[in-house]
Amino acid sequence: MLQQTQVKTVIPYFNNFTKKFKNLRALSRSNNKEILKMWEGLGYYRRARNLLSCSRQLVNIYKLKLPNTLMEIKKLPGIGDYTGNALLGLVYNKPTIAVDGNVKRVFSRYLNKQAVKINFEKFIMKNKKKLFYSKRNADFVEALMEFGALVCKPKDPNCVSCCLNKTCKYFKSTDKIKNFSKKMIIDKNYDVFCYINTKKQIALTKQNQVSFLRNFNLPTMKESYGFSNNKNWIFLKNYKNNISNLKLNINLYYKFSNKIPATHNWYSLKNNKEFIPNFTKKILRQVSTLF
Ligand code: SF4
Repeated sequence: MLQQTQVKTVIPYFNNFTKKFKNLRALSRSNNKEILKMWEGLGYYRRARNLLSCSRQLVNIYKLKLPNTLMEIKKLPGIGDYTGNALLGLVYNKPTIAVDGNVKRVFSRYLNKQAVKINFEKFIMKNKKKLFYSKRNADFVEALMEFGALVCKPKDPNCVSCCLNKTCKYFKSTDKIKNFSKKMIIDKNYDVFCYINTKKQIALTKQNQVSFLRNFNLPTMKESYGFSNNKNWIFLKNYKNNISNLKLNINLYYKFSNKIPATHNWYSLKNNKEFIPNFTKKILRQVSTLF
């Protein structure tokens, strides 16, 4: 849940989730519909689906025992190098580091070298004895994450009170490395076409090719490249919607119709029991202003 998401946002979701699913077996008995509904509003929905299939594999194939090698653990859905290493360290106390943006920044500052110029795998291997000297590897994985979040922060690192400042090249240097790779922002324009009816319903489809919400409930959407010929539709509103590094410029259109494409189904503009992603909820709110 914490990937790309702030702790304060995650807390209520985490509490609900762990209250509902007390253990892996309970989670494995759930289904996509239920999990996605509980995840609604948290974004990055692939995480929820992966978590469910991961729990199923752990129950059915691995008999509730987490694999203890990186190669094996990475076969589980949604587990890559980062999560795999974090789990091996936290669960099995293995000498590993979960290398994310925070950890890269810490090492990069410590060496006063741009992150792109560091081979982190090699660096960790080479410095194994210095990094994993205490045998408290699980604590080390956790500590490094916290260190990046609380001490060697993205902006204004607490160098003066930092326990590494005697050897840190960034702190000592008069020529400090500067910018840490910012996320590349991608601008996209979309025309969104909403079929609505007088029962205050909107037609949504899961059969869409929108990369960031593929197979989730959306109205018909088309990426637009300047000129759009939407003469059979009524323009409702233009607004912006940012999703991660995507900056979306949305032109919203609607028409009242009882006929909808075979791929679409009617959904109420309010109180949907089914999971609706935030992106679509925003559209629903805009369309509701018509009634
Ligand atoms: S001295 Fe400053 S830059 Fe170096 S590791 Fe500590 S907080 Fe980061």
